[in-house]
Amino acid sequence: MTHRKLNNLNLPVDKRRSFLNRLQSVYAQMDSKYRQVADFYQFHCKGCDDNCCETHFHHHTIIEFLYLQSGYNTLPAEKRKCIRAGAGDVCRLKHEHKNTRIMCPLNFEGLCVLYEYRPMICRLHGLPHELCKPGGRSIQSPGCDAFAKQCQEKSFSDNRTEFDRTPFYRQIAMLEQELRKTVEFTSKIKMTVAEMVVTF
Ligand code: SF4
Repeated sequence: MTHRKLNNLNLPVDKRRSFLNRLQSVYAQMDSKYRQVADFYQFHCKGCDDNCCETHFHHHTIIEFLYLQSGYNTLPAEKRKCIRAGAGDVCRLKHEHKNTRIMCPLNFEGLCVLYEYRPMICRLHGLPHELCKPGGRSIQSPGCDAFAKQCQEKSFSDNRTEFDRTPFYRQIAMLEQELRKTVEFTSKIKMTVAEMVVTF
């Protein structure tokens, strides 16, 4: 039901484009900050056993749903068909074996086919960071296993740099709020990339 609503939002093309352009600009700031911090630590993601594309993060915003969908719609029909079938398989397998690790259906031979359109968490994963939650509570995260192997020494030294995700979360939350108000969408969403793709 929620999926049907997501695919039938009352959002004219020009307004949709404007929202997506604004999200793209937040993503560009995020990517730039990520690169700056990764360069500082000289962290290079070369893949690892704990592949984050097998993690199946949940995503909660309709703006990211629309952005991923806009990227999906740029792909040739054959590719879309193949991705959709893969996403269906992933959803079924995850339903039957909750704790199984399965590759995201957008990952082909180690590469994300919608890299430019990937959601926020795919952009930010890996580096140690902090996040100030609404209400003022601050959460610190140490980064992924690959980061720990490559850069832990530097991340514990006095010579470290901070990666505060808070401004990005806030900007996306504001955009999401505005979009939801515009389209009068009030349902909560919690979807993996595979679950989004099967609705496209
Ligand atoms: S959307 Fe792309 S980056 Fe994110 S998990 Fe899937 S393949 Fe990996």
